[in-house]
Amino acid sequence: MAVPNLELRPLGNTGLKLSSIGFGASPFGSVYRPVSESEAVASVREGFRLGINFFDTSPYYGATLSEKMLGKGLKALGVPRNEYIVSTKCGRYREGFDFSAERVTTSLHESLERLQLDYVDIFQCHDIEFGSLDQIVNETIPALRKLKEAGKIRFIGITGLPLDIFTYVLDRVPPGTVDVILSYCHYSINDSTLEDLLPYLKTKGVGIISAAPLAMGLLTELGPLERHPASPELKSACQAAAAYCKEKGKNISKLALQFSLSNKDISSVLVGMNSVKQVEENVAAATELALFGQDWETLAEVEAILKPVKNQTWPSGIRRC
Ligand code: NAD
Repeated sequence: MAVPNLELRPLGNTGLKLSSIGFGASPFGSVYRPVSESEAVASVREGFRLGINFFDTSPYYGATLSEKMLGKGLKALGVPRNEYIVSTKCGRYREGFDFSAERVTTSLHESLERLQLDYVDIFQCHDIEFGSLDQIVNETIPALRKLKEAGKIRFIGITGLPLDIFTYVLDRVPPGTVDVILSYCHYSINDSTLEDLLPYLKTKGVGIISAAPLAMGLLTELGPLERHPASPELKSACQAAAAYCKEKGKNISKLALQFSLSNKDISSVLVGMNSVKQVEENVAAATELALFGQDWETLAEVEAILKPVKNQTWPSGIRRC
């Protein structure tokens, strides 16, 4: 049987086609465990070889380390620039948040230098719930539009955890101004609340990226870092689900990734990867999904274990506009 290529999906009205699995490069900032430069470069190479064309980072990840490592990985590919799509972010830094026009403009130039690129495809305001949403609408996005006109970025995005930040901003900017939204931890087996927002986002014509299908480590055998913001109840339910899968000879991460990939309104599912092995496992999960569909039986069993905590999330950001 022929092995299907990793699917490419259109991103809203951008004209871009993103691989269904996107490469989340936050682990290159050694946020989960130390990652060497050679491991990072080899992971990017393997991801690209297997059909991943979309790579996401931020100056916040590992205090700029992730951008530098990703830059090295992309350069080492030695392929024309238009063969891969890069997104990075602005407004969130190790030192704190700053969504001012001046800071985000400088930020882009610093990111380009670290990434060794002339432009980025998608430039996103990072975790806007920590800033003033009115500043995002009236100051930050207009500054990003200038960068777009100057050809330094191709598309504008916004990211964050609470879902109402997206409607707040999209209802207040001229149509077509925000090209992309990046939501995280809201389209996984334990929390799929992004689904309710999809019809609205589609009417706005924005591209939809869903990040963290493994709920930032909750849906892995290894489990999340100690500082993961989930409640103890949510953490232990996810660990029970992971243990159940393992006992049954199944893998919770594969199940979780396949769950997220199954909704084709989501253009790309961004999963954080720190090794060639994880890249290969995750692309294999997508291939298996395309060939055989989801493992409905195990999914139903895991959903039953997670039912008491379904759609439970955690607070993020400051509550003001
Ligand atoms: P994730 O849910 O993708 O989980 C990543 C963790 O799972 C890492 O520890 C990784 O090593 C591990 N993992 C990956 N593949 C695995 C496999 N096959 N088996 C076992 N473990 C595996 O969470 P994430 O990395 O935080 O999110 C993905 C990406 O999305 C980030 O790297 C980042 O690019 C983006 N993101 C953006 C925002 C934002 O803009 N606010 C928030 C979260 C994530």
